Amino acid sequence: MDQKEQKPYIFTEICLQSIYCKDNSCQLNHSRVFVGVCVEYLRNEQQFYDEGGEEYEQTKCNKKDCNLWHFQNDKFSDQLSKQTINGIFPHNLCPKSCGFENCGYLHRKWAEKVCFNQILKGSCRNKQCELEHVRWELDILKERARSCSLNQDTTPEDLCEKEKCNCGKHPPWLNDYCILYLKGLCPNKKCIKNHTDWEKINTKINQKKCFKVLYHHRSRKKKKNSFNT
Ligand SMILES: [Zn+2]
Ligand SMILES: [Zn+2]
Ligand SMILES: [Zn+2]
Ligand SMILES: [Zn+2]
Ligand SMILES: [Zn+2]
Ligand SMILES: [Zn+2]
Repeated sequence: MDQKEQKPYIFTEICLQSIYCKDNSCQLNHSRVFVGVCVEYLRNEQQFYDEGGEEYEQTKCNKKDCNLWHFQNDKFSDQLSKQTINGIFPHNLCPKSCGFENCGYLHRKWAEKVCFNQILKGSCRNKQCELEHVRWELDILKERARSCSLNQDTTPEDLCEKEKCNCGKHPPWLNDYCILYLKGLCPNKKCIKNHTDWEKINTKINQKKCFKVLYHHRSRKKKKNSFNT
């Protein structure tokens, strides 16, 4: 992502609950890129500097049991520039792979047993750590993610999010889905397009649906034609 093009976030405009927000009238930004990140902490840091502070020294937010990543603004910007896998940022994923829906993170089969200290902090200091120490950028995780998807021919990274664009990266079977969401960047809580996890989008069913509509259309045309003759 081009750093110059990315407008700096104003963190008071970001919803603390991100995609888990239940308030239908909430007007804040709900981009999935914030899943797993403590937005409260980012807000606090931003406010500190806005008020003329010199060096922000807090390492966490004020919530005692907060289990999210406490990134300062710089580190968060770094994370934004990282490549996604199936549209997922490394900080989106639950470091404990706990599987509970309300833990604040995402859970993906392909990222279980991966050590996120290694991936996000650059090293793992726990000598007893039994998790896998792999690099995010290497193909091994990408391949695993692909094998866990119903769509194995393409990934959100291959798609174009622009509206009214003819670049060829707009498969018709994805017409109803929000591509920005698949990339983790749609700010809308209520969006005109579907917000569905990539791994749950079934290409074959969608392609069949497309085909059915087409087929239906054709057979009706045929009938009409035979009627006329
Ligand atoms: Zn919200
Ligand atoms: Zn926190
Ligand atoms: Zn979890
Ligand atoms: Zn480790
Ligand atoms: Zn395009
Ligand atoms: Zn959307």
